[in-house]
Amino acid sequence: MSGRPTRLDGDLDRLLSFTIPGRNVRGRTLRLGPVLDRILAAHDYPLPVQRLLAEALVLTALMGGLLKREGSQLTLQAQAEGGAVDLMVCDYRNGELRGYVRHDAERLAGLPAEPSLADLFGSGHLAITFELSAADQRYQGVVPLEGKSLTAAVEAYFARSEQVPTLIRSAVVTGGAHCAAGGLLVQHLADGEEGRERLHVRLDHPEWEHVAILAQSVQPQELVEPGLSQEQLIWRLFHEEPEVRVQAAVPLSRGCRCSIVHFEDVLSRFPKEDRRDMRDENGIILVDCAFCSREFAIQD
Ligand SMILES: [Zn+2]
Repeated sequence: MSGRPTRLDGDLDRLLSFTIPGRNVRGRTLRLGPVLDRILAAHDYPLPVQRLLAEALVLTALMGGLLKREGSQLTLQAQAEGGAVDLMVCDYRNGELRGYVRHDAERLAGLPAEPSLADLFGSGHLAITFELSAADQRYQGVVPLEGKSLTAAVEAYFARSEQVPTLIRSAVVTGGAHCAAGGLLVQHLADGEEGRERLHVRLDHPEWEHVAILAQSVQPQELVEPGLSQEQLIWRLFHEEPEVRVQAAVPLSRGCRCSIVHFEDVLSRFPKEDRRDMRDENGIILVDCAFCSREFAIQD
């Protein structure tokens, strides 16, 4: 690498998967740019909430990127009380991301400029749901919303619930004309192969300790540095390894499933009496999509 850093717009809004076969490690990196702007544009969130949602979207996409089957979905949901935010939902499916945060603006205004996780959420928990479409499998892990950041809470989820040694880093840049965010997830697969039952788990496996030391050297600015591509970042961190395999990038986009047809289908599953209670005098049921901040008028 030489010369002036150039802005690598082509590197934005994509997720990269890589493996380090000699260490039984898999990883994901991602950069969010215009997709993040688009998701945030649907809402009028204050800066700390924008930052929180951006971090949550990075984590959602990093974990969603671990799912290989088409149509699989990952949902991150924070539920809390006693803080400025009581609900946050993000999900990822086939490269599509969406999210929203329900918060109390007045309470938020009373917080410091860089609120802690406890300031934002009070007390609560984080539910992470993996839904594997084709196999019709669904599993959920729940961890307390505590620690120094949302990223740390998700990292703790892998250690506690899945017992998979995992390192996660994220970085968010907001406040300017455009938002940017980036993330790195590195994980040790105990038996080397995914999907195999783990007979014994060692969080201090020497293979993992070595990779974790390399991955830990990443600086937050490297995750969002315009002149540094994700491939260059992976190279910078792991070039001493004999082999690092990088797979084709997955493009990320903003996506929501809300539509008149979708809500008609959802409503059709409600009992007739319930629908009658929801209708206004013109026979219209108003349905709100929290992800898009949009209201749909469904003729019942
Ligand atoms: Zn929507």
